[in-house]
Order: sequence, then structure tokens, then C-alpha cells
Amino acid sequence: MIASECAPVAKVGGLADVVIGLASDISQRENEVEIILPKYDCLRHDKISDLKEFYPDLRVPWLKGAIRCTVWSGMVHNCKSFFIEPHSSDNFFNRKMVYGCPDDTTRFAFFCKAAMEFLYKSGKRPDIIHCHDWPTGLVPVLLDEIYKPIGMDSSRVCFTIHNFRHQGLAGTNILFATGLNRPEYFLKPDKLSDTAYRNCINFMKSGIVYSSFITSVSPQYMWEAKNTDQGCGLSSLLNQFNGKIEGVLNGIDYTIWDPEKDLHIPIQFSPETIDKKSEIKNTLREHLHLRKDNKPILSFIGRLDEQKGIHLIRHALFYSLSHGAQFVLLGTSPDPKITRDFALLQMQFSDHSDCRIVLKFDEELSHLIYAGSDLFMVPSMYEPCGLTQMIALKYGTVPVVRSVGGLVNTVFDRDYSEKPKDERNGYTFQHTDEKAIESALYRAFDLWYNHPGEFRELMINGMHYDFSWKVSGEKYLEIYKKIIN
Ligand code: ADP
Repeated sequence: MIASECAPVAKVGGLADVVIGLASDISQRENEVEIILPKYDCLRHDKISDLKEFYPDLRVPWLKGAIRCTVWSGMVHNCKSFFIEPHSSDNFFNRKMVYGCPDDTTRFAFFCKAAMEFLYKSGKRPDIIHCHDWPTGLVPVLLDEIYKPIGMDSSRVCFTIHNFRHQGLAGTNILFATGLNRPEYFLKPDKLSDTAYRNCINFMKSGIVYSSFITSVSPQYMWEAKNTDQGCGLSSLLNQFNGKIEGVLNGIDYTIWDPEKDLHIPIQFSPETIDKKSEIKNTLREHLHLRKDNKPILSFIGRLDEQKGIHLIRHALFYSLSHGAQFVLLGTSPDPKITRDFALLQMQFSDHSDCRIVLKFDEELSHLIYAGSDLFMVPSMYEPCGLTQMIALKYGTVPVVRSVGGLVNTVFDRDYSEKPKDERNGYTFQHTDEKAIESALYRAFDLWYNHPGEFRELMINGMHYDFSWKVSGEKYLEIYKKIIN
């Protein structure tokens, strides 16, 4: 695996969870898996064991010279990982952050080059190099154009796209820096040039053109990328490569998210003992100073970002309070305006006995909310896969989601799905307006109040789904075998 993120040592979003979750699953099936990451100054060193120098003097060709790097090795969970530390005044990975610098494309182009140079010089010849998102998009280009001709001809690349919105655009200086050179050869529509900005190279497109196989993080998101504006300019390219493209649903880590073993909740439970959830609901209410009353709790956990359907989250709050439900939100926002808006709401409801807004990142509290709520909403505008609805399902909390991306592959409407009744597990709605979410919430609250036995069945149906890495890991192994052959 070559990646810009890996949980828990360098986590920005779901990509980090996928890298460690998939790597762990594949290695448990008796494959040798190693992860290559930048050695960021903001790495969680406390989560790496046995960190030591592995390759002290790696010279990485760059521009007209070379940058000396130290490659460190260490264990992340049970996976052997390598961390590349360049020594140059560019300070590529000493920025106290993973992304967000003006020279991000240069930083990650260097990372691609250094990772390939490390594989080459250390004699590693992996059957599969699995890359993730635009920061590693140049890896398959470098492999084909530079490293295969000098001996690395047995490796194949699988490239996973987690989000089509961020593609990485750079000028031709990147070609000279990495030793690819020849802009006249690379700046072509069938090679690296961006569709809209033809004088720029597009890292994500490079990954798509040069990899042996491309996946995205759910079948529906891949379909949307190929057939709607979700492809963000790459739809027709994806359609050209139909034979080497597939959507594979992400898994979640059931060693962390399992109500039968979870020590962050006051009492553990299974589908057979689901009634214990009411005790956890009371603990949640005590913790958040909500009143104990015969009402369902609707919750939301996540980044407060336009992607997540901010206007619908806000509307659901008011709708819940006026329709006999309690409302809990746990979230943070990278956007100061959204943060301000929610801080105002938080103040407005600070004394309300049916509503609590918590604006921080709190993993422990998230476990209590997943377990103690009745309903969980994910009203996203787009959602490549989405983990929160899968976690909620495991904790017997019924999801109410917008039918988009990975949510389509994981949540099946109680009233309208074509699935057999015992496989329906939540509520869905299509449109992005307030009426749409109201109709789903109305049906959910109605079932909770008027048909509690049926609501209980819906909770149990959800708990029986298996969204572990077991299933997705199997799928990836099939893909690896296919491209090796
Ligand atoms: P994203 O688009 O942010 O990657 P996902 O649904 O794929 O969304 O994953 C979000 C993950 O982050 C989930 O595990 C969720 O529980 C966690 N999370 C998000 N916000 C918070 C928060 N404020 N506190 C605790 N956990 C959070």
C-alpha cells in the first residue's frame, strides 16, 4: 500500500481507515502486506511500535539533483509500515498538517517518486502496489515509464478512488522534477493532461490511465462517477476503461465497532439482548442532560460540511423537536461560517431538554451516541461510501439516509425497498429539499410510536448485516489475482 493517510497514525478521513482496515484483513489471509507513508511531523508516534531507521541513505532523484531521505520502519497495528523522511529545505512533510499547503502537488509527487525509488533500491518487488487517491496517482506512471524498464516489471497497480472532487492538478514542472520529462509525450488527452486545463497534469487521471485496475469505495458511487456529474470531469475517461473498473464497498472495523465488546458503552448488547439499549439511552441522556421521556432520539455524527447536507441536518433538528423526538448532534467543521452557525444553534438550545449540540471531535462520546440513539441520519448531498450509517446499523440504530453513493448500497427502505422484509433496515429519501427528509422522518417516528414491535424488528435486521472487511477484503484479493494474471 502506498498512501498519504493511514489510521490511526495519519488520519484525515475515511481513506485512513480503509488503508489500515484493508491492509490488516489482507495480511490476516497470509499475504505479506507493507504500507509506505510520508513521515509527517504530525504523525501519531505513540501509535507506532518499534520505530527505527531502516534505510538511512535513500537518494531520491529530484529536479537536477537528488534529495536524501531516511526511511523508517515500524508497526501500525500488525502491519509493517515504512515512513519516508526527506532531508531538504523544502520540508515537504514538516508542515504540521497532511494536506492544505499551496505546494501539495509537489509534496505528493515527491512522495510518489521516493516510494518508487525506495521499492526499487531496497529490492522489494511487490506483486501488487495498491495506491489511494490523487496523492499517489503518479505511482503507476513512474512504475510504467521509469521503473519497469529497469527491472520492476512484475508489479501491478490497483488504484482506489475515495473522492473524485480532489484530483490534484499541477504544471509540467512536476514532469521534470520526477524525471518523467517529455511534456510533449505526457501532455496528451490519452495520457496525463487534464480535460479542462490541457496544460496541466491531473494526478487522479494519471492513476486511472496507468493502473491495471481502478476501484472506488462503493458500487453506487462508481456508477454515479461514470454516469453523472459526480465524476467531476472524469466520467468519459472512466467509461473508456469499463473492463478495469469496479466499485467495492468499504468495510468497517468490527474490533472497534462491536456492541457486544465495546467498552466505551456502559453495557454491551447483541441482537438477542437488544432491549439493553434502553439503559444506554438513559446513560446518554444523563451524559447530555436530556430529559428522560417516552421519545425517540435522532442523532447525527460527522463533519459539518456542505457535502453532509447541512440544511437538512438543521431542518431535521427543528422537525424532530416539533414532532416528539429528541435530537443529538456531534460534529466539527473545517468551515468557520458553518462552525459559527452551529455555535449559534448550540447557544439557542443550550437549556433545551430535548436537544443537544456538541461541537467537538469525541470518539468516546460517538460510541455512546451510536449505541444510545434510536435513529441516525445521513442526509448527504454526495457520499462515496459513508461509515456512520454502517456503524449505526451494527448498534441497532435505524438509519435515515438520502439515497446517494454508498448509502444506496447499505440502507434499504422499510416501506419501499424491493428487498425481502427481513433485509430492510432503515429509511431513505431521494430529493435534497426539506419535504423529502420530512417524509422519511415522519415514517420513522410513526413506526417508533405506533408499532414498536416492528421498529424493534427493523433494528435487529440492521444488526444482522455484515459490513466487515472480511467481505471487501475477499473482493480485493480477487481483483489482485486477476491483475497478476
Ligand atoms: P467522512 O466523509 O468524514 O470520511 P465517513 O462517514 O466516511 O465520513 O467517516 C466519518 C468517521 O469519523 C466515522 O467513524 C465517525 O464516527 C467519525 N466522526 C466524524 N465526526 C466525529 C466527531 N465529531 N466525533 C467523533 N467521531 C467523529
